[in-house]
Amino acid sequence: GRHKDQQRSSGFHYQGLSFDQESLHIFAGLCAVDNPKHVEEMLKALQANGLSCTRMGAYKPRTNPYAFQGHGKSCLPWVFDLAGKYGIKVVAMEVTHESHMQEIDQALADAGKPCGVIMQIGTRNTQNFELLKAIGRQNTYPALLKRGFGITLNESLNAAEYLASEGNNQVIFCLRGMKSEFGAPHRNMVDFAQVPTVKRLTRMPVCIDPSHSVGSRDVAPDGVLELCHATAQGVLAGANMVLVDFHPAPTKALVDGPQALTLNELEPFLKDMEIARKAY
Ligand code: PEP
Repeated sequence: GRHKDQQRSSGFHYQGLSFDQESLHIFAGLCAVDNPKHVEEMLKALQANGLSCTRMGAYKPRTNPYAFQGHGKSCLPWVFDLAGKYGIKVVAMEVTHESHMQEIDQALADAGKPCGVIMQIGTRNTQNFELLKAIGRQNTYPALLKRGFGITLNESLNAAEYLASEGNNQVIFCLRGMKSEFGAPHRNMVDFAQVPTVKRLTRMPVCIDPSHSVGSRDVAPDGVLELCHATAQGVLAGANMVLVDFHPAPTKALVDGPQALTLNELEPFLKDMEIARKAY
């Protein structure tokens, strides 16, 4: 059970939403923006399910230089237009370079600011201190910092301090699993038991990314996707945000199709999370 008197107030407001250690926001969406049809189908499904946040990858940090690198700034105008059309308030979007933040800023202004954007810093860039300082130097856009996949938790929390020390007080910390052979067959060793730990050690809201942690659509003997079990565990542990990959046609996804949930799975996924949240 929770000790209510021990709750600590912190966090921030963005686009009319409260992000703190008590709130819970679902950022379901595309790992990588591919085409307007898929983005529109995705956003339509979110709206139909009452969701107003999404994840959309335009700048993709790929292991293989010959793999699809994301559409970059060219897709921003239509992505933001569609976000506005479907009532999306906040888009989580990874940036791998400071200039991407400026491109997003410009595209949002050109589109008439239909939505807000959270600047996502990926696990490959957790200790990219110059990127952290650049995102830390502004407070217009909140930051979502992924934990580093191969460094200690404390080192990742120190990286978050770079954002804060430069002046950005709108920071969310994201658990996304650790690279480890011991975690296999999962893509990464799922680390959602550390949700309460990060909340205890810091004042940041804590996000979980079950898609990049589990990395597959494998089904447990009870008929539930292991990815959904992991999500429920993280929500039950008090997660404040869930970043999760969906795709209208996972086999056609240009990045990480094998871990994407289908649009038909959105409603049952949300129902499961509601149960986990009630049990928190
Ligand atoms: C992502 O969320 O799209 C991503 C690349 O995640 P990570 O940085 O955790 O690998």
